[in-house]
Amino acid sequence: MKEIIITHARQNNLKNISLRIPKNKITVFTGVSGSGKSSLVFETIGAEAQRQINETQNSFIRNRLQHFGVPNVDKIENLNVPFIINQKRLGGNARSTVGTATDIYASLRLLFSRIGEPFVGYSNVFSFNNPQGMCRECEGLGYVQTVNTETLFDKNKSLNEGAIKFPTFQPGGWRLTRYIHSGYFDNDKKLKDFTQQEWELLLHAEEHTPKNPDKQWGKTVKYKGVIPRIENSFLKKDSKENITRKDTLKKVIITKECPVCKGQRLNSKILSCKINGRNIADCTALSIDDLLHFIREIPSETYTSVILELEKKLQNLLDVGLQYLSLDRQTDTLSGGESQRIKMVKQLGNSLLDLLYIFDEPSIGLHPKDIDHIVDIIRKIRDKGNTVLIVEHDPDLIKIADLIIDMGPGSGKNGGEIMYQGSFKNLKNANSKTGSYFKKERSYNINPRSAKGFLEITNGNLHNLKNVNVKIPTGIMTVVTGVAGSGKSTLINKVLPLFYPQVTVVDQSVFTASSRSNLLTYLNLSNTVRKLFSTTNNVSEKLFSRNGQGACPNCKGLGVEKIDLAFMDDIEQPCEVCNGSGFKPQVLKYEYQEKNIADIMNMTVLEALHFFPKTCFEHEFSLLIKLGLDYLTLGQRLDSFSGGERQRLKLTRELNHTNKIIILDEPSTGLHPIDNEKLLSFFQELVNKGNTLIIIEHNLDIIAQADWIIDIGPGAGKLGGKIVFEGTVEKLLSSNDSATSIYLKKHLK
Ligand code: ADP
Ligand code: ADP
Ligand code: ZN
Ligand code: ZN
Repeated sequence: MKEIIITHARQNNLKNISLRIPKNKITVFTGVSGSGKSSLVFETIGAEAQRQINETQNSFIRNRLQHFGVPNVDKIENLNVPFIINQKRLGGNARSTVGTATDIYASLRLLFSRIGEPFVGYSNVFSFNNPQGMCRECEGLGYVQTVNTETLFDKNKSLNEGAIKFPTFQPGGWRLTRYIHSGYFDNDKKLKDFTQQEWELLLHAEEHTPKNPDKQWGKTVKYKGVIPRIENSFLKKDSKENITRKDTLKKVIITKECPVCKGQRLNSKILSCKINGRNIADCTALSIDDLLHFIREIPSETYTSVILELEKKLQNLLDVGLQYLSLDRQTDTLSGGESQRIKMVKQLGNSLLDLLYIFDEPSIGLHPKDIDHIVDIIRKIRDKGNTVLIVEHDPDLIKIADLIIDMGPGSGKNGGEIMYQGSFKNLKNANSKTGSYFKKERSYNINPRSAKGFLEITNGNLHNLKNVNVKIPTGIMTVVTGVAGSGKSTLINKVLPLFYPQVTVVDQSVFTASSRSNLLTYLNLSNTVRKLFSTTNNVSEKLFSRNGQGACPNCKGLGVEKIDLAFMDDIEQPCEVCNGSGFKPQVLKYEYQEKNIADIMNMTVLEALHFFPKTCFEHEFSLLIKLGLDYLTLGQRLDSFSGGERQRLKLTRELNHTNKIIILDEPSTGLHPIDNEKLLSFFQELVNKGNTLIIIEHNLDIIAQADWIIDIGPGAGKLGGKIVFEGTVEKLLSSNDSATSIYLKKHLK
């Protein structure tokens, strides 16, 4: 059983393909976006492995999983237990830190419980989630929240006019009644005219029964100031209301470091326990490399195994280039690339064998130098006796494959075939887009534009930046480079906007639109499409909307039904009434050019360009094609787009502008190298229209075409934060100071 054998896979666009994947090897799947890589790797192989595991569950769960994810394939033999590692950020709540997510904090707790002075208890009391260990004031969060009286009150209004700017305290709101019937206030007096005593009563009074309330005061009711009331109802850990009023709360709450534990989360007894003068919170505040150094200094005759375990785990983080992180860093502040490397490191620590690891574009967010690090981990995972499958576009990662499977030739219906299966060495001979990319000579920009002017940043000091002074050219394309964690986003996304608030950041974040929005609505084209249908068929436009009259009554137009699995993530399955189209069956009998509205929604952008009259949508669709998004379907829901797709879609809205300062963070994400060329010509167009482009990017093909490069480094975290290089590509290639220069030279060779 040395191979996974797949027979006749037909999921999505796959053309009845059969293949064999060697075990205990690294197989990389390449091909343009939409060619079918995910359909094969995630939706066929991964889903089938997952489904077979579900089969082992009891019948209750099995029944509920039944409709879900049975891939369209005749047979898959010799599967292993799958483990999927994607870019999904680690997320988590305020209690999830790098230390807890990697289990290193647990080892550290053990160490403190063994050799800390004085002895304060077993290892669990060192946890900030444990009532015996946590700081009582902040309940282990390290911060406290208080009400901001400046934003909560409108002092130019009276209570009756709605001076308390919080929903239930507004006129008619049930919480306000207690104040206006208390007998304490003139309800028509503006708050700015309140006496000191009235203010105190309104804001801070402790719970008591008022002496002269009016008739409407309930007998058993007690009076309490606005601040303690909001604190008790919304800011306490177990309060239910804080979830429903999240957005309103944000406006009236200030978050501050906890005054008692100073952000260290633990109580003073636990913090008094020290090893070599440091308590456990001091240790988690150190960067990983400093912590490793500290641990190595501990004389370790007795507790060698705990110390060795800690050293090994810390060394693993160091090896993947995360030495700059500290264990107390909250996981929800980590980038996608950092999150992914932490997930990988965790896998190194386990002792499971014979797993099937599936990676989704592990190069995202990583400098070529960082990629060298993760290549090491991926090899280690394989060498432990696991099988590794990787979906990837980055040449440096494609190179490490024991076997390459290249999909194509095109996207969607024009893809779904295996174009090449073999070694990296022969990939350049493949008759495919990937093959032609590797055959091509690589070049760089020998005619850079000159700056029109400069955006000047002086004394930039946020996070790891070391008093950075830099001039960013305007009117040209600047690429900002440097290893992950060197300070690129801090400088460009955080500090630059402080100096020049009018910058436009085009990022990969999710759209704020509702879950019903799709590509057509985003492009503002839905109305035109509905009109075409309504005039052709002489019926109301409204019929062709899934938000209105046209909606399938079963799924309310969503096309999917959610299955609530209580103890697992919700899963979705296509609606059985409308087959996933979201439309009422009656609506589907109306046609335009022999297609019904559901057919239109399933059309790709490329098909739509040829289908509709030229004058209709040519501009919008050609733009998407230029950005390598020809394979998207018109009805595709916005919440199904990947980060890279979202970012490129947002870019389409910038082309009509001139004289803008546009910031892009890794626009190459998810793009096949051949499509990067299209993206680059789009950038040239933006610059030619008079815009300034500032691009944070690791992709060497994009770096090579920059007019100007700013390299930040030399290392990550405290070892970074300086400008290492500024200048043209030509000059970068003749410099020896930066890692970027070394890798770019190799790339162009
Ligand atoms: P890749 O991973 O190579 O970018 P995919 O496997 O995601 O490509 O997509 C291959 C084709 O299958 C595309 O045309 C895509 O639109 C289509 N496809 C992907 N997911 C679905 C789905 N859930 N339903 C229908 N078609 C899909
Ligand atoms: P890059 O964009 O080059 O990958 P960043 O600008 O994201 O790097 O990070 C630079 C440094 O600042 C890193 O040491 C990182 O850990 C730190 N950092 C980034 N965001 C935060 C934050 N919200 N809080 C504390 N430190 C941060
Ligand atoms: Zn505290
Ligand atoms: Zn339906």
